[in-house]
Amino acid sequence: MIETHAHLDFPQFDDDREAAIKRAADAGIHTIINIGTDWDSCDRVIELAEAHPRLFAAVGIHPHDAKIWEGDRSSERLKTLAEHPKVVAIGEIGLDYYRNNSPRDKQRVAFVEQIAVAKDMNLPIVIHNRDAFNDIFEVLLMERAYDVGGVLHCFSEGVAEAEKSIDLGFHLSVNGILTYKKATMAEVGKSVRLDRLLLETDCPFLAPHPHRGKRNEPAYVAFVGDKLAELRGTPVDEIADVTDENANRLFRLPPLQ
Ligand SMILES: [Zn+2]
Repeated sequence: MIETHAHLDFPQFDDDREAAIKRAADAGIHTIINIGTDWDSCDRVIELAEAHPRLFAAVGIHPHDAKIWEGDRSSERLKTLAEHPKVVAIGEIGLDYYRNNSPRDKQRVAFVEQIAVAKDMNLPIVIHNRDAFNDIFEVLLMERAYDVGGVLHCFSEGVAEAEKSIDLGFHLSVNGILTYKKATMAEVGKSVRLDRLLLETDCPFLAPHPHRGKRNEPAYVAFVGDKLAELRGTPVDEIADVTDENANRLFRLPPLQ
C-alpha cells in the first residue's frame, strides 16, 4: 500500500521519525510521499527522500503560508526544488477558508502561480481544500490544471463534488476521516470510481479509528484501506493493488525493486 500524503518532517516525529518509517514498512506500506508546506518543510521532505529509496517528496507552499509567496521569485525557487529527481508533485497548494491564516486573495495568487509552476515542470498537483471547494474548482478550470492533473487530498466533500472533480480529471484521496462516523464520506468511499482513489494519512493529523485523537503515522494508512474495503465489499488486497496503481500512474513513481 502507498501512503500518498504524510508530513514526516513535522516536529511531532522528531523523537521517532526513523522508527515510524520502519513501522510503516513492516506494516506493508512500501512507499511514502511526504508533502512540503513551506520553504523549510520543502527542504526537509527532499532530505528525507534522499535518505530513503522509497520516500518521495512534493514541494509547495500551503495556503496557510501563502503570505510568504513572493511572485516570480517564489516561482523560480519552487522550480529549482521541483527539479530534484525525487520530487513527484507540486503541493500542497490550494485554498483554506476555514482558518484564513493567510488573506484569501494572497492564497488565490499563490495557488494560481504554483499551478503554473506545476505545468511548466509537468508535475501533478496536491490540493488542500477547506471550505473552499467552489473557488478551487473554478481555479482548476480557469488555469487548466487538468493538463497536469492531481489529487484533492483529504477529500471530505460529498458525492456530487467527488464526481465533478473526477470528471475534470482529478483523483481524490481519503484518510482517517473515512473511519469516523460521517455518512457523507461513507457514500463517497462506496460510490466513487476506484481507479481515481488514493489512500493517505495526512499524519501527524487525523488518525483513523481506533487511534483517533492520537498522533497519526504512515503505518495507519492500513486502517483507511481496511475501511474502504469494508465500505465497498471489496477484498483489501484489491483495494491496495488498485490504489497503488493509481498512485504509480499519477505520480509516475519508479517501479518497486
Ligand atoms: Zn497535508
